[in-house]
Amino acid sequence: MVDVDRARIAAALPHYDIGEMLGQGAHGAVFAARHRRLNVDRAVKVLLADDVNATDRFLTEARVMTVLDHPHIVRVHEYAERDGAWLLVMEYLPGGTLTGRGRCPPEQVAAWGLAVADALSAAHANGIVHRDIKPSNLLFTADGTLKVGDFGIAKLYAGADASASADLVGTPRYIAPEQILGGRVGPATDLYALGVTLYELLAGRPPYPRGLELPALIHHHLSVPPMPLDEPPARIAAVILHMLAKDPDDRPPSARACAVELARAASQDIGPNWLERAGVPLRVDGSVLREASEPATVVLRRPSPGRRRARWLLGAAGLLALLLVLVGGLVLRPDDDRGARTSDTATTATELDTYRGPPGFVTQFAFANHSSRVALLDDDGFVVLWTPGSQDTLGPIRIEGIIWDLTFDPSDTTLATAGSDAAVRFWNASSGKQNLAPITGLESEVGSVAFSRDGSVVAAADVSGIRLTNPGETRPFESMPVAAVTNHGLVYSPDGRRLASSSEAGVELWEVNTGALLRRLPGTTPSSGVVFSPDGSLLAAAVGEGRIQVWSVAEGIPVGPVIVVPNLSPGGAVAFDENSTHLVTCERTTVRWWDPTTARQVREPLILHTTAPPGASAFNRDATRLAISAGDGTVRLWSMD
Ligand code: ADP
Ligand code: MG
Repeated sequence: MVDVDRARIAAALPHYDIGEMLGQGAHGAVFAARHRRLNVDRAVKVLLADDVNATDRFLTEARVMTVLDHPHIVRVHEYAERDGAWLLVMEYLPGGTLTGRGRCPPEQVAAWGLAVADALSAAHANGIVHRDIKPSNLLFTADGTLKVGDFGIAKLYAGADASASADLVGTPRYIAPEQILGGRVGPATDLYALGVTLYELLAGRPPYPRGLELPALIHHHLSVPPMPLDEPPARIAAVILHMLAKDPDDRPPSARACAVELARAASQDIGPNWLERAGVPLRVDGSVLREASEPATVVLRRPSPGRRRARWLLGAAGLLALLLVLVGGLVLRPDDDRGARTSDTATTATELDTYRGPPGFVTQFAFANHSSRVALLDDDGFVVLWTPGSQDTLGPIRIEGIIWDLTFDPSDTTLATAGSDAAVRFWNASSGKQNLAPITGLESEVGSVAFSRDGSVVAAADVSGIRLTNPGETRPFESMPVAAVTNHGLVYSPDGRRLASSSEAGVELWEVNTGALLRRLPGTTPSSGVVFSPDGSLLAAAVGEGRIQVWSVAEGIPVGPVIVVPNLSPGGAVAFDENSTHLVTCERTTVRWWDPTTARQVREPLILHTTAPPGASAFNRDATRLAISAGDGTVRLWSMD
């Protein structure tokens, strides 16, 4: 796939003899090399790209990798670029990778897990999330020491042939739910991928059935529990399942905590001499092993009582809501009222309609601007244009690849989709046919797409930044360099003058006319929940998991304390109400109204009812409508009165 001639590498690295190709991944090729003067073997990874942004990012990440100094992370020795080839010289690992090992002894699995978790802990401490932990990126030295490689390269290598590959966002078999949903990718994302890897090594089979098509596999990651891990030993198995929790908050709280859990489980399951029995060279932080030998209560994280209670209440309230539905057809049920300050009269929601299949589990929504229409995207890659309360539903439309974002144009005549095929596609909202040339001059997967207020500009985010294109044109006319914009992390301000992006740099505001960066909102974290108030004066953005800060757009300062929404997951919904005075959130099926100046709730929360476990939810622009999908493929639409 990668067409590199050795002569070109040799020209860029004159001190080395370039040998055989050692391996090839989705994004580049790796060659053996020998330093002529030092007489040492090295491995050279080659990236071919012709884009300045890709190069910049590559250099940045090469620098970061150089900083990572850990016995279980592949070391980088040199960086070179010449004639359109970018090269990373690394230590040579002749012991192969963890790929294809089949079922392995539990003490070995635990020791490898410990090595990788400790390496991840060092990376995370440097603000780096690997995003592509999997067997082929875990390599052995000659003495059998396991090392994490391919660090952050997946993103950087996007330039060359990204369109062919879904690897940019991780590898489907190892991808975490929040990576799929475009939520905040963080340390827990790596723990999930490591969990899949360890599951495979312990059980000799993957956690989800083999041979699933991509959409079905994604569905499993999102909403199907891993197959039971009955293989002994029980405690190691339990830690692995802990790592595979769907909600990142339910996984071990850090890579270090995960390492401790693994070590403790191994010594309990196998005995205190488990490491000797494993025979795996291990050079991890000594305090991890010490802590693992202390009583479990010190480190094992348990859900806080508040959280447990809230969940239980949610379940109980769900039952009650079901009864209410059966009796009255209306769903309203006050939540557990911690922090609620009721000032308004009780709020109700009216169920307008329920959508039932054919597609699978709905993961994303796009509300039309002027009608009640909602575009639904399911995890099988089908889009349906649903018109609630009518028979006018259009679709399902099958769109190739993975769709990361979809949105209506301001006139609601066109639906734009952005996805893994590195294109933005336009669909006629009445015929379901593609009605404009797709934007193809993009560099990688497209995670986010937005229309300007008058529909004359489409903003799309690929790996190198935000690209602006006129609909009908295939190539962008301008770009703003923003690394790793979150899926559906692009929003125009209501007056169309500003564009907000959520990325690794946090939330940034751009002046659309000049392409100038107006401000970066301090403390913001990458999330897909960036929203403007309908009047354009306020902007809400995440400043951590379940933590939302509301900012004055004009001044760029917070208007009040941070709003803490219990259990707000990546699938949750955030919007301002129509008067631009309150922030409305929905986590699972609980709707809350907040005063952004005090961060307190201003009404009784509402719990709505779904027939199956709720999945994703979304508000329309002014929070007058709310859609919630459920595990049985239904979508319910409520009008918030
Ligand atoms: P990609 O981004 O293309 O997946 P990787 O860094 O994972 O690149 O390398 C691809 C393959 O090359 C690995 O799976 C491994 O087989 C081989 N490889 C990578 N780095 C080394 C190394 N330092 N020493 C030996 N082989 C390596
Ligand atoms: Mg790789």
